[in-house]
Amino acid sequence: MATREPFLKDRLFCPGPTPVPLPVKLAAAEQTVYHRTQDFYNLFQSCRERLAPFFGSKNLPVLLASSGTGAMEAAITNLTDVGDRILVINAGKFGERWQKLGSYFGCNVVSLDIDWGNIPQWDQIAEVLRRYQDWRAVFLQANETSTAVALPIQELIPKIRQSTDALIVVDAVSGLCAHQVDMDAWGIDCVVAGSQKGFGIDPGLAFICLSDRAVSRMGQRPRFYFDLRRELIGQAKGESAWTPATSLIVSLDKALETLTALTPNGVVTHHARLAEAVRRGGLAMGLKLFAQAGHSNAVTAFTVPDGVDGKKLIKVLAQQYGTIFAGGQDKLAGKIVRFSHLGFVDIFDVISGLAALELALHHSGHSCRPGAGTAAALEFFR
Ligand SMILES: *Cc1c(COP(=O)(O)O)cnc(C)c1O
Repeated sequence: MATREPFLKDRLFCPGPTPVPLPVKLAAAEQTVYHRTQDFYNLFQSCRERLAPFFGSKNLPVLLASSGTGAMEAAITNLTDVGDRILVINAGKFGERWQKLGSYFGCNVVSLDIDWGNIPQWDQIAEVLRRYQDWRAVFLQANETSTAVALPIQELIPKIRQSTDALIVVDAVSGLCAHQVDMDAWGIDCVVAGSQKGFGIDPGLAFICLSDRAVSRMGQRPRFYFDLRRELIGQAKGESAWTPATSLIVSLDKALETLTALTPNGVVTHHARLAEAVRRGGLAMGLKLFAQAGHSNAVTAFTVPDGVDGKKLIKVLAQQYGTIFAGGQDKLAGKIVRFSHLGFVDIFDVISGLAALELALHHSGHSCRPGAGTAAALEFFR
C-alpha cells in the first residue's frame, strides 16, 4: 500500500463518533466542575430543555452516563418484565441489538426480520401484530446505521399506535438530527439517543425520553444504575442519581448553542442536503446505493464495485488518505462502504470525503472521470 500523503489531516466519515467541533471540545477542557451545585443543576436542566425539541416531546429526556446501548438497555429493563411479549422490527445490526437485549432480559421476543437494505412495510408489521393480543412493547430503529436505511417511522408509528396499545420504543441514536422525530405527535413512548452521533460531542452520554404513558407503565424488574423512575425524580431538579458525565454535559451545552439556533427542522434539512449531495456524488462515480429504499440522511452506504476489495478500500482510505470510513458489518463486511454525513459536518467535508473516495477507488481498480463525484455534489450545492 502506498505511504500516507504528507500533511494529511485525519477526517472522520464513520457513523459515530462524528467530528467534534473545537469549541465544543475546548468547553469541556476548561474546568472540572462539581455536579452537586446549583450552577450545575441549572446547566443540566437547560441542556434537557433544549434537547427536548429534538425528540419532539414536551417531556424532558433523561441524561445517562453511558453509550447509546446503555439507554437501550434502560428502555428494556424499565419498560418490560420477564416473559413479556415484545415485537422487534429488525432491519439490521441495531435491530438485532434490540432482539438480543430483549432475549437477555427474558422477554418473549418476536422478531420481524426485514431484508438488509430495505424498509419494513406496514402490511408486514400489521400481520405480525395480529398474531397476538398481549404485546407489551414494539421496538425499532429510526435509522438503521448498519444498512444506511431510514425507516419510515412517520408513516409507520401512527399506524402501530392505532392497532396496538403496546409501548412504542424507538432507537434514534443515529436518527436524531438527521431525521424528524416527533414523539408526542406520532405517539412514540420512548426515544433513545446518544452523544457521539448527531449531537457532535464525544461518546459517553446517552439520552432517553419517555412519554407519560411509558412513565405510568414501568415494569417491576430490579434495576439499579439505570433506574429511570429514580432519574426522573432527581433530574427534574437537575440532579442525576450518580455522578453525571460533567465534561460531556458542558460540551453538550456548547453544541446545543449551534443546534438550537438552527432549530431541529433546520438541522434535519441540513443533513438531507448533505445526504443528497453524497448520493449524487457516488452515483456519478459509478457507484450503486446499497439501500433499496429509505435513504438515510445520516449515512450513505455504497456497494463496493465488482473487482474492488472492500476491506482493502477502507484501509486505503484510512492509511493513505487519513479518511475514516466504515465498512459493512457482519454479512456486509467487505461489501459496502459507509459514508457518514451526520453531526457537525459541512458541505466541504462531504466534498473532501467524495474526493478521497474517488482516489482510493482509483487505486483499488475502479476509475471514473476525475472529479466526477465532487462535480456532481458541487453542482447540487450550487
Ligand atoms: C451507534 C448506535 C447505537 C449505540 O451504540 P453505542 O456504541 O452503544 O453508542 C444504537 N443504535 C444505533 C442505530 C446506532 O447507530
